[in-house]
Amino acid sequence: MFAELQLDKQLLRALEKLRLETPTDVQAKTIPEALAGKDLLVNAHTGSGKTAAFLLPSLHKLLTQSTKKPGTRLLVLSPTRELARQLFKNCKDLIQFCPLQVGLIMGGDEFKYQRAMLRKDPEVLIATPGRLLEHVKHEHTELSNLEILVLDEADRMLDMGLADDVLEIVNACNQTDRQTMLFSATLAH
Ligand code: AMP
Repeated sequence: MFAELQLDKQLLRALEKLRLETPTDVQAKTIPEALAGKDLLVNAHTGSGKTAAFLLPSLHKLLTQSTKKPGTRLLVLSPTRELARQLFKNCKDLIQFCPLQVGLIMGGDEFKYQRAMLRKDPEVLIATPGRLLEHVKHEHTELSNLEILVLDEADRMLDMGLADDVLEIVNACNQTDRQTMLFSATLAH
C-alpha cells in the first residue's frame, strides 16, 4: 500500500482521489531508494507506473525540505512533446493538494508565454530538451539550485539525437547536492 511508503499526507490524499492504492513493482522498488536520496538507473517501460515512481519521492522531498533558494527544484526531461504533456498532467494530478507549481516547456508552444511562466519560478519543470535549452541560453531559467534531475525515457532521448542538448542542460545545472534518476526501457541487467 502507498500509505506504508511514508509519503507526505498531501500526496497520499491525491493518490486516494486518483484511486491508486497499491504500488506497481517499479514503484515499490524505486520509491524507498529514491526517498533515501540515492542516484538511480531504473529499467522501466511505459505502462509500468514509472512516472509516479519518480514523481512521488521527488515531490515528497520538495514538500518536506523547504528552501529559500530561487530556481527550479525538480527538472524532468522527456524525449517527446506527447510524453511531456502526459508527465505534466500526472504531476498536476499528484500535486493537486500541495503548495507546489509545475511548468511545461516544450517545442510548439508559444515561447513568450513560456518565458512569462518561468518568471513565476515554478518548483517543478517538465521539459523537452531543445526548447528548454533555448530558455537556458536566454537565461530565462535558473537551474543552479536544482535538487532532483530526472531523465525519463533516456534511451529514446539518445535514439532521437538529443544527447548533446541533454548534456548541455546537465552542464547548466549544479553538479553537486543533486539527486539524479535515469529511466530507460533498455538498460542492460
Ligand atoms: P506510466 O508507466 O507512468 O506511464 O503509467 C502507466 C499508467 O499506470 C498510468 O495511466 C497511471 O495512471 C497508471 N498507474 C500508475 N501507478 C499506478 C498504480 N500504483 N496502480 C494502478 N495504476 C497505476
